[in-house]
Amino acid sequence: MQICVIGAGYVGLVTATCFAEMGNQVSCVERDPFRLARLAHGQVPLYEPGLEPMLQAHLASGQLSFMARVEEGVAEADIVFIAVGTPSGEDGSADLSHVLAVADELGASLRRPCLVVDKSTVPVGTAERVAQRINAGLAARGLGFRVQVASNPEFLKEGSAIDDFMRPDRVIIGCDDADASEQLRRLYAPFLRNHERLLSMGVRAAEFTKYAANAFLATKISFMNEMAGICARLGVDIEDVRRGVGSDKRIGTHFIYAGCGYGGSCFPKDVRALIRTAEQEGMEPGILRAVEARNALQKTLLFQALREHFSGFLQGRVVTLWGLSFKPGTDDLREAPSLVLLEALLQAGARVQAHDPAANAGVAARYPKAVESGQLRLLDSPYGAAEGADALVLVTEWKQFRQPNFERIRGLMRMPVIFDGRNLYEPAQLVEAGFLYRGIGRPASG
Ligand code: NAD
Repeated sequence: MQICVIGAGYVGLVTATCFAEMGNQVSCVERDPFRLARLAHGQVPLYEPGLEPMLQAHLASGQLSFMARVEEGVAEADIVFIAVGTPSGEDGSADLSHVLAVADELGASLRRPCLVVDKSTVPVGTAERVAQRINAGLAARGLGFRVQVASNPEFLKEGSAIDDFMRPDRVIIGCDDADASEQLRRLYAPFLRNHERLLSMGVRAAEFTKYAANAFLATKISFMNEMAGICARLGVDIEDVRRGVGSDKRIGTHFIYAGCGYGGSCFPKDVRALIRTAEQEGMEPGILRAVEARNALQKTLLFQALREHFSGFLQGRVVTLWGLSFKPGTDDLREAPSLVLLEALLQAGARVQAHDPAANAGVAARYPKAVESGQLRLLDSPYGAAEGADALVLVTEWKQFRQPNFERIRGLMRMPVIFDGRNLYEPAQLVEAGFLYRGIGRPASG
């Protein structure tokens, strides 16, 4: 099939590359000239394991191409995917300006019938609005055909995006037209050869499913974080509790890790947008509000613990941060818990030495003054970042941090103190290695 994907971010790029991998002819439209220039040379402008070699292969074979103009991208397209960002607006609702701008561009540039699909996460009713905008454009140009707009929300996870897309848990197709639904089913058939996991439903149900899924996952995390808070008071280790409750099949082991809060480009904004939707419908979304409030609190816990440890005096203290991206396997810093901690530390006059395998450059670009003054140093190795530190904080649980040489670290640090924001380490092991250990929802050790 001839596919056009509009937006070459985490979702758009993975979508375009994976469709090319299955033999489709894919054009990908990106408006950011810097991104586009890199993509044209086969460079992926974001960190996503496995994406670059695949993209280069399909660029070389001519199966995948990049362009700036929607008109060029859609010229031959049977299906057009909208995969642009939907950040939080000022009132918390999803900002649809990018999606609607694409709809206007499609209305002004489509020359032949095609199926348009929202892949971006958008509130219920958006497909209808997009269809109206496109069809108004077509009518204004005196064209005789109209387009259908379907919803196909994306569930990939940054860090394992290729695998998630190639072997999805499920594909949701929201479509009110049988032919369009069949066209999408055929497009996805190669991804679902050994497991029929395609769920067809109405457009509005598909749009809502994505929000409900993310809100549920965020709820699991905030619930465990609240349990961790209670555990900490009772001298109970939340890690024992996690293993205990996770072994119940009805609960499951995923997404029940206590920690320093969730971030990223999806959970925070999608929970906020769902709260706004409920409010607009005159409902009181009590659970969602609590999920958000717990997460905001959770992001401040590491700083509170550090302040307590240093009796309120952080000025001049050297604090090491391991991990900056919102989760392992990505360079994405959107709403990352690390940034809340980093800003509080800088504000309090601490000196920060940080290391992240993929996000150092992104953090340097966000805090140029702190980098210039030397208050923030971004280092290439976890050990370099630990040198001379008064405390080390594990913020993002990259694999590289799972089993470090603690003896070496103790030798490098001025004071052997570890704050474990992801409960990655065994407290007894660290105490034996000579550290003071503090986790989230665990009794203090050492
Ligand atoms: P992103 O910000 O990384 O990428 C969006 C891209 O679209 C950018 O490169 C931007 O320059 C481009 N763009 C914006 N307007 C354009 C236009 N008019 N023409 C061409 N290009 C344009 O966003 P993302 O993280 O890929 O997310 C995209 C959507 O997918 C969002 O709605 C998000 O909620 C959803 N989603 C994201 C993830 C994820 O893990 N990132 C997972 C599932 C769903």
